[in-house]
Amino acid sequence: IFIFQDKTLDSITRFATTRFFATGSEHSCLSRNQSVLYRKSSPHKPSSYLVSKLRSYEELHKRCGPHTDSYKRSMKQLKSGQIDHNSSDCKYVVWVADCGLGNRMLSITSAFLYGLLTDRVLLINEEQEMVGLFCEPFPNTSWILPEDFPFKKKMSGFNNKIGHSYGNMLKTNTINYSTQLLPSYLYLYLSHDCGHDDQLFFCDQDQALLSKVPWLIMRSNVYFLPSMFLMSSFDQELDKLFPDKETVFHHLGRYLFHPSDRVWRLITKYYQDHLAKAEKRIGIQIRIFHPKTSPFEYVMDQILACIQKEKLLPEVGTGKSIASPSKKQTSKVVLVTSLFQGYFEKLKKMYGEHPTKTGEVVAVYQPSHEGRQQTWQNSHNVQALVEIYLLSLSDELVTSAWSTFGYVAQGLRGIRPLILYNRTVSDPPCGRGVSMEPCYHTPPIFDCKAQTKTVDTGALVPHVRRCEDLSWGLKLF
Ligand code: GDP
Repeated sequence: IFIFQDKTLDSITRFATTRFFATGSEHSCLSRNQSVLYRKSSPHKPSSYLVSKLRSYEELHKRCGPHTDSYKRSMKQLKSGQIDHNSSDCKYVVWVADCGLGNRMLSITSAFLYGLLTDRVLLINEEQEMVGLFCEPFPNTSWILPEDFPFKKKMSGFNNKIGHSYGNMLKTNTINYSTQLLPSYLYLYLSHDCGHDDQLFFCDQDQALLSKVPWLIMRSNVYFLPSMFLMSSFDQELDKLFPDKETVFHHLGRYLFHPSDRVWRLITKYYQDHLAKAEKRIGIQIRIFHPKTSPFEYVMDQILACIQKEKLLPEVGTGKSIASPSKKQTSKVVLVTSLFQGYFEKLKKMYGEHPTKTGEVVAVYQPSHEGRQQTWQNSHNVQALVEIYLLSLSDELVTSAWSTFGYVAQGLRGIRPLILYNRTVSDPPCGRGVSMEPCYHTPPIFDCKAQTKTVDTGALVPHVRRCEDLSWGLKLF
């Protein structure tokens, strides 16, 4: 009932929710309605243009989505390999997975924005390790690519070497800008290790060609979205959609990613058992990419120095003297997420064995310590989503540099995090992000008009800059 009454619910979701229920969906999605009870309502309002664009996208998806007549006609066209202009006016972008969950959520969001900008329906090639993680985002239809999609097996092995990717076809001149007869589908390889020719995707001339191809099969593991803000084909539309450039992932991520009921139950149980009662929740995400270059003691000292410098948690005393009992005791809870347990153990011991100098009570929790990344396992990804979401319910967030896991949490939360820099010089130990947007780690660095020329793509437009945690990365701000 509160769905319709709660004024704090984000307007983009509220519309979707209302429509879901008004038209009656048999699939439950508790998180869509209940998230408002757990996460702070966003102070960042979506533009009315974005809201209406999402409504028209939903209509498009319903008309062209799996099992519709338009989809069936488009499928015939795909199988024939030839474009048939009388067959269907629906166009698609099929997203193919690569890497961990954070990377996936960021590249799905990028593919979705590309779909919004080019009137393409986004379909997800859902591998078993992602089954049942999220609710369907669009009302009365599905974003899951049907099982009988012709190239399903081929798609998972698709990498930067395959001959029939768009980049390789350009390189070998199998396709060029004056090609008259275009195929009905093309493979786009946009992962971190894609080459110069693949990255021509980000040029206006290539977009003009791609716009004629009904099926684009895209493999990506990066947040390539900032580079779309550098293209003149899209910049006017993007300006209308996102007057505030810092909130692109925040809005699209909250719109797309609603944990399934199975994941939601785990999130809410953990929250209620450990986090709900605290006056302040502090999330600390510790991602160790190379244990050899990030030794435990070094990282632990960095975390403690950051906590102290930013006054996130009170200092602990060595003696028995604590603040006078008359002073009101406040409580803070720290949510540590990491594949390893050592950081949590040290913090827990510190606050468990010593009184704080202010008399505040600090509790420390860590939901899991999986030891290593096991992206191919469904239950491992469930746990990852639970923790990303729990982090996004924090009042303050400390994240690890370079980590897409942390980027998703900060974006869903809508906060500029304190980033633990990945540097050998640990002063300062952490710093405030310039925006809540994720970083695109491997953007193109060439000028589309003079393709061989390298340019600083972080200095071309006012709202795209280099990332604070990765000097060659790009981010919106
Ligand atoms: P990134 O590698 O840090 O950019 O983030 P990704 O999410 O793309 O990949 C890392 C994967 O490792 C996650 O998806 C999880 O599967 C696992 N992982 C890393 N850190 C954590 C953590 O703190 N908690 C849990 N449960 N899993 C983690």
